[in-house]
Amino acid sequence: MQQRTKLLVGSLASSLAVIALFAGIAFTSALDLARHQIPNLLHDHNQHLIETLPARPSLAQILAILPHHETHRDSLSVIDTQGRRLSAADNHSSQKQAIHIDSESLLATSSGYTTIGDNEYIWATTPIPDTPYTLVNTHRNARSGLREFMKYIGVPIGFAALISIWLSTWGAMVISSLFRKLNEQRAQLEHQAHHDPLTGLPNRDALSKTIDATIAQLDGSKQALAVCMIDLHQFKEINDSLGHHCGDELLRQVATRLSGVLQAPDLAGRFYGNKFAIMLRQTGTATIDAITGTLLGTLENSFEIDGRCLYIRGTLGIALYPQHATTAPALLQKAEAAIFQARDNTQYAAIFQALDNKGAAERLGLINDLRNALRDGQLELHYQPKLDLRSRHIIGAEALARWIHPQHGAIPPDQFIEIAERTGLIKELTRWVLETAVQQCAQCHANGWAVKISANLSAINLHDEELVPLIASLLERHELPAQNLVVEITETAMMADPARAKAQLRKLDTLGVCISIDDFGTGYSSLGHLRQLPVDEIKIDKSFVVDMISSEDDASIVRATIGLAHDLSLEVVAEGVEDEITLKQLTDMGCDIAQGYHIARPMPAADFAAMLDEHIKAKKDDQAVASR
Ligand code: C2E
Ligand code: CA
Ligand code: CA
Repeated sequence: MQQRTKLLVGSLASSLAVIALFAGIAFTSALDLARHQIPNLLHDHNQHLIETLPARPSLAQILAILPHHETHRDSLSVIDTQGRRLSAADNHSSQKQAIHIDSESLLATSSGYTTIGDNEYIWATTPIPDTPYTLVNTHRNARSGLREFMKYIGVPIGFAALISIWLSTWGAMVISSLFRKLNEQRAQLEHQAHHDPLTGLPNRDALSKTIDATIAQLDGSKQALAVCMIDLHQFKEINDSLGHHCGDELLRQVATRLSGVLQAPDLAGRFYGNKFAIMLRQTGTATIDAITGTLLGTLENSFEIDGRCLYIRGTLGIALYPQHATTAPALLQKAEAAIFQARDNTQYAAIFQALDNKGAAERLGLINDLRNALRDGQLELHYQPKLDLRSRHIIGAEALARWIHPQHGAIPPDQFIEIAERTGLIKELTRWVLETAVQQCAQCHANGWAVKISANLSAINLHDEELVPLIASLLERHELPAQNLVVEITETAMMADPARAKAQLRKLDTLGVCISIDDFGTGYSSLGHLRQLPVDEIKIDKSFVVDMISSEDDASIVRATIGLAHDLSLEVVAEGVEDEITLKQLTDMGCDIAQGYHIARPMPAADFAAMLDEHIKAKKDDQAVASR
């Protein structure tokens, strides 16, 4: 029965019970009252009759008054001292009463009552003064009195019942709707606590609890459990380029597709951000391919968002119970670590490999640490000087990020930049680099050292619509002419999305910022390709430069690149110059600029400033000697 019906029935029943109780109490009280009051009335009546008799009346005089006072309910009779009845024999009701009310009772008490059949008889005896006779007055109180009683109070009780039924029904409705609202609110709060508001899927906590509960059920049995995690690629870019509403819609559609391919008790939940976690019952290793196919298959078809067709990929990490872990948090962590392992092996899916766990776990720890490092100013920019090979002057430096981790010491940028790129922190990191580099460059100019500072951009930065306005405002704020800022973008980053790169580079070019292609030669682009982009400089990757003395192939590549770049009116920077011979050979090949440990290692800003100061003084001294 529904709670509402229960409440209604309950309140109706209780209100009817209360009415019945009151009616019962009223009825028995009325009966009691009658039993107490009727004898008094009968006595009064007897007394009144006795007063009509003469003094010392004879029996005949007494009997003479009796017949006139009989009705079908009341009767009068006379008894003598032995209790014998002396009334008229032809009186029916008196006859009856005389038979049933025994003389002992009549003589013993002055009033009483007795029940005979359906009737109750109340009697009162009054001795007639100066005679041996007693007047007995009997009143028949019908047992059907309840019905009669109801005749009198039926209407008010009926009204009272109607009012109380109405009140109780109304009360029950109000209370039940109150209960319903409370229940709804409670259910809503419970749902919110356990579900992700965007996708409606169970959230991380709920999923974790479900996994733990399932493990508890499996305990002892030989069944396995797989905890999978999907990390969506390019989610950050979609958010940045198409807006958060598109990102949200994408997550909703992925959630619907995932739920669609799972059957209870398998369950998908949103882990956080662009990561979904899935719990699968069943599963031996043999079915891992099937899992991968099913889960990653959900991303195969395009997603239609805002009238566009988007294709996205994901990486799947799988951890198995009980092989890899026996608790939900550990399984989830290992599934996440497996994503990193898959990526390291350039695969789309991987089962957790215990041996690789340390590196992955460290990296997981580093994600949070990097976020804090950016906030707490743990990052520093070092500057590696660039040497102009014609004039032999320091004409600039490349800004390189450094992170000294409080526990792990120096973390190589190759590692933390990769983490920043994966987590989206790169946007914040690049802004910090640009701000610091522009400020440093402006400081150098203020000191009279006209140098250019290069900053590295990641592929993801090419999707940041706010990047160009930020650079413009930084240059304006620090009053630095735009050509003193060089942005280095790797060849691979440019080729990842040539159209977007082109658009973003055009804007930077319009601003007057120099554009340099980093790690040139490691990607698959050709100089012809790059001609379509507004590029000012190319940096020959250090892998060709470090070995160019020993490897004729590398030397040929370097020579050819310098030639082609010059044909396209591009400046050439050789990075990774580790010795004087290389430097000399590069000069002979016509390379414009060199950078490498042989010239200087990356150094803190203060050291770079001191180096510039010394360098300028030496230059002036040289000029003075030359002019003498
Ligand atoms: P990159 O842009 O190619 O930077 C040059 C790297 O070569 C630097 O490594 C530098 O220390 C190193 N190097 C310089 N001279 C020599 C040399 O003579 N021999 C050898 N073997 N290496 C030399 P670092 O500082 O470890 O940076 C590594 C990579 O990290 C950089 O490669 C760049 O891709 C990335 N990175 C560093 N800072 C930033 C940053 O602020 N933003 C972005 N997006 N990436 C950065
Ligand atoms: Ca660089
Ligand atoms: Ca480089």
